[in-house]
Amino acid sequence: MNPFEFVEPESLEEAVSLLTKEPGRAEVIAGGTDLLSELKDGLRRPERLVSLMGVEELGGVRWERDRVWLGASLTLGSLAEDERLSGEYPILAQAARSIATTQIRSVATLGGNLCQRPRCWYYRHPGFPCYKKGGVHCYGVNGYNRNLAILGHGASVMVHPSDMAPALIAMDARLESFGPRGRRTMALEDFFAGPNEQQMQEHVLERGEIVTGVFVSKPPSDARSVFLKAQDRTGEDFALASVAASASVSDGAVTRARMILGGVAPVPYRSQKAEEYLVGQAVKEVESSKAAELALCHARPLRHNGFKVILTKNLVRHAIETILKQ
Ligand SMILES: Cc1cc2nc3c(=O)[nH]c(=O)nc-3n(C[C@H](O)[C@H](O)[C@H](O)COP(=O)(O)OP(=O)(O)OC[C@H]3O[C@@H](n4cnc5c(N)ncnc54)[C@H](O)[C@@H]3O)c2cc1C
Repeated sequence: MNPFEFVEPESLEEAVSLLTKEPGRAEVIAGGTDLLSELKDGLRRPERLVSLMGVEELGGVRWERDRVWLGASLTLGSLAEDERLSGEYPILAQAARSIATTQIRSVATLGGNLCQRPRCWYYRHPGFPCYKKGGVHCYGVNGYNRNLAILGHGASVMVHPSDMAPALIAMDARLESFGPRGRRTMALEDFFAGPNEQQMQEHVLERGEIVTGVFVSKPPSDARSVFLKAQDRTGEDFALASVAASASVSDGAVTRARMILGGVAPVPYRSQKAEEYLVGQAVKEVESSKAAELALCHARPLRHNGFKVILTKNLVRHAIETILKQ
């Protein structure tokens, strides 16, 4: 690991100034559960780490009249255990509880979860100059690609590893950030960038820009949702595939639907075909297997991951049946 300076600003302005002073030399660190392993493996060599953990305004949960704000430094453990959040936004607690272990969740933050780097073994192995590290080649295309993308791949076949992302997108969350050009918010769905748009990061943050939090509107009273995840081992494992589904039902018919797939594409994958099929359908007439076929209709599995298509279809089916029964 190369030597680095560790700085702990107390305000957002100070953090942004420390990040932009010498462009390219500083990195943000929050809980460090992802970044530190990258540093240990020599994948990144920043000269300065700017910790966000002393910036008070990034922490906690703020309840507003018709929405909640989740701070970027909120730990996944606090998110999973917050009783009011679990009651009003169960899908978020379900996703948070599915992540890693109690120990990791007690330091891993929401902002870090959304900004974490790919988990592909070619990316993580110091010996492969893979595309997402600035190389020219994605080794996953012809290599061992069991855990990699089945949908939406481009210059890389990585999958986005965040479980919080699909759950938040299913709730139409908005991401808030602060950077050299001030504060902005965007639909969380628009925050993620595939490998053809961004090579060295998986989001649209500009240099020196920091995620400050996420807004989630109060769900309507007729809303229901669920997060389901398939993994090789229960606990401590990333998703082979996940599904975050939410819907509103009024007078026996679906009036709104969100179907977001995780672990299958370089960005959280929104299946508009499945959503379009569901909206307007009488609940009694919904064929969950038809929605599942539509959700995966653009799937292009690689040599070793055809099983993920079947797995994801089953998750979609199960998710739809679960929310329509709620
Ligand atoms: C064993 C293990 C199992 C795991 N399993 C899962 C899983 O099943 N599902 C899942 O979703 N995740 C999983 N993770 C990933 C884990 O959720 C992330 O490592 C964690 O959420 C990152 O948060 P952090 O605060 O530690 O981020 P850090 O490691 O500090 O940072 C991660 C990245 O985000 C950037 N960053 C952090 N905060 C901000 C911010 N506010 N603004 C801009 N950039 C920022 C950093 O520069 C860095 O690039 C697992 C991790 C481990 C180690």
